[in-house]
Amino acid sequence: MPSDIKPSDIFECTQCGECCKGYGGTYVTEKDIAAISEYLHTDPARFLKECCQMSGRKPVLAEGENGYCVFWQDKRCGIHPVKPKMCRAWPFIQSVLTDISNWRIMAASCPGIRTDVSDDDIRECVREVRKTLI
Ligand code: SF4
Ligand code: SF4
Repeated sequence: MPSDIKPSDIFECTQCGECCKGYGGTYVTEKDIAAISEYLHTDPARFLKECCQMSGRKPVLAEGENGYCVFWQDKRCGIHPVKPKMCRAWPFIQSVLTDISNWRIMAASCPGIRTDVSDDDIRECVREVRKTLI
């Protein structure tokens, strides 16, 4: 029988900030760059220069002096409405579909992730969220 579990049933961000810590993880797409620049009332070139660092040939959000993403301010995401696709997707990421054990590995560092759910329900929720991501 199909389950009616929803993504919000298996993940709710506690705003602990753990995933906003450190350098290098958060890539920004062209769409992210356009949306964040507009939100910040700046132009893409300035946003890239002032808020990003390069990881290989791709831009990632820079790390601030406090060791967190430059947009982690007052214990919240300062660009929440336009945060990058990677941040919007978390934890419903492709690698969970590739290997379901990643869900439980990620849960060890993300207190918002529930693990008392079946693998099939997790997969279904990941697919559902990923359909809505742009
Ligand atoms: S680690 Fe999880 S619970 Fe903490 S801020 Fe990130 S997504 Fe939210
Ligand atoms: S953009 Fe927001 S959600 Fe993403 S890493 Fe930075 S502070 Fe965290």
